[in-house]
Amino acid sequence: MTAPGMEIEERIDRLHAHGLIDLHFDLLMDLYEKRDRPNVLATEFLPEFEAGSMGVIGAAIYIEDRYLPEMALRVALDQIARLYSEVELSDRFAICRSCEEILLAREAGRIALLITMEGVEPLGQDLNLLRVFFELGVRVIGLTHVRRNAAGSGGVFAASGSSRDGLTSFGRDLVQACEGLGIVVDLAHINPVGFQEVLACTTEPPIVSHTNARRYHDLERNISDEQIKMIGERRGVIGINSVLVSPRQEEATIDRYVDHIEHVAGLIGVEGVGIGFDFFEFIVRQWSESAQRELAAKFTKPHFIPELTNHSHARNLTRKLIERGFNDEQIAKILFGNWMRIFSQLCFEIH
Ligand SMILES: [Zn+2]
Repeated sequence: MTAPGMEIEERIDRLHAHGLIDLHFDLLMDLYEKRDRPNVLATEFLPEFEAGSMGVIGAAIYIEDRYLPEMALRVALDQIARLYSEVELSDRFAICRSCEEILLAREAGRIALLITMEGVEPLGQDLNLLRVFFELGVRVIGLTHVRRNAAGSGGVFAASGSSRDGLTSFGRDLVQACEGLGIVVDLAHINPVGFQEVLACTTEPPIVSHTNARRYHDLERNISDEQIKMIGERRGVIGINSVLVSPRQEEATIDRYVDHIEHVAGLIGVEGVGIGFDFFEFIVRQWSESAQRELAAKFTKPHFIPELTNHSHARNLTRKLIERGFNDEQIAKILFGNWMRIFSQLCFEIH
C-alpha cells in the first residue's frame, strides 16, 4: 500500500477506536428464527461487528405479518429472551439500559446492545405492557413500521398514499408514557401527520433511527427537507439508512450514501447526522426467490450497496467520508458522537 493509503488506514483506525454506533439492526428477528441454534450471535455476527469496529448496536424487535396479531407479544418476548441467552454465551457483548451502562460496556471492550422496538404491535393496546418492555431493557421505540397499528400509521413506500390519520389516542398516551419512562421515541417509518404529532407531544431531541432523504428517494417512508429541519431545530439526530439511498440499483453506491449525509448536514449541520445502516441483506439472502419477490411487492425493492452491505464494510464508509473531505471531528460526530449525545436522554434510571 502507498504511503498516503497507509495514512488513511491509520486515520480510520483512530476514528474507529471509539467504536461506531448503528442504531438500527434487525438482529432479534434473526436470532428468533434461529432459536434452535445456540451461539449465533458470537459465530455469525461478532466477526462482522469486530471487522467494522462496532461499539453500540440498536437491536430491533420486529414482528413479521405472519405472527400478527395473536403471536406478536409472545414473539417479541421470545426475541428478547434469545438476545439475553445469546449474550450470556459470549463475553463480548452487554445489553445496556442506560448511558452509564453503555460507557461501562465500552470501557470493558464489549459491544453495547440497546434493545429497540420497530412497531408497537407487541403491546396490542395495553399501555401497562410498555413498563414490562422497559424493564426488559427496551430504550428506543418507533410506533409503527409501514402497516397501521393501534398507535398510528406508517409512511408508505411510495411518494404519497399513507393514511391521513395521525396518532390514535393510544399512540399519544404511549408517546407520553415513553418520555415519562425515559424511552426515546423513534420517528422512523411514521407517516407525515404522525411525525408532526409526535413532535408536538414530546420535548426531548427527536430521532429517526434509520431513514433516507426524500430528495434522493422520494418515498413517504423517507423524510422530506421540512421534516429534516424540524428534527434539526430540536437538536435531534437522523440515522442514514443504507438500503433506500436511490430508486435505482446502479445508484446504490457509497457515494450516494454520503450524498444523504451531506444533504442532511447541509440542512441541519453535521450534529444532526448519525448511522442507522439497517443492514438486512443477510436476512433476504436466506429467503426463497418467491419470498424476496413478495418483499419487493409489499414494500419496495431494497437496493443493497455492494461495498456497504454488512457491518464489516464500515471502514469503506469512513474511507469515503475522508475522501469526500469530512474532517475527523465531523466524522467522529457522524460515527458515534451524535448518537452518544442522544443517549444522554437515557442517563436517568427510574427505580
Ligand atoms: Zn425499518
